[in-house]
Amino acid sequence: VAVTGPPRPLATALTRFFWDGLAERRLLIQRCSACRHWVHYPRPRCPWCQSPDLAPEEVSGRGELYAFTVTVQAFHPFFADRLPYVLALVELAEQEGLRLTTQVVGCDEVDLRIGMPLELVWTDLGDLGPAPFFRPAGVP
Ligand SMILES: [Zn+2]
Repeated sequence: VAVTGPPRPLATALTRFFWDGLAERRLLIQRCSACRHWVHYPRPRCPWCQSPDLAPEEVSGRGELYAFTVTVQAFHPFFADRLPYVLALVELAEQEGLRLTTQVVGCDEVDLRIGMPLELVWTDLGDLGPAPFFRPAGVP
């Protein structure tokens, strides 16, 4: 199969704000206007209070490493020359349990530790645009 480009996210009415935010280098997460909980992935109703009144807000970009794996096999040919990479769940500082699937960059895999502080770093993926990856916090 010929690789014609990267796999592209399918934006829906529910998720378009997220992808549009990335294009502007803004990490936007849904937040409930009624109970103020953050909600990710995007949902039509708040899982805490059932309110449909959710709106995107920009998060701080601070978080910590919740879980990770080192990916050595590309799930799509476009990523074959980016291997290996660290696929991670990052718990965002805004709320316990608010986790984003992303990549950790700028850190040797042997130095990764669950709970280590991370910070957002925008990483240009060419045709895919900016991606919200994370790196160890406070490292110059
Ligand atoms: Zn709510």
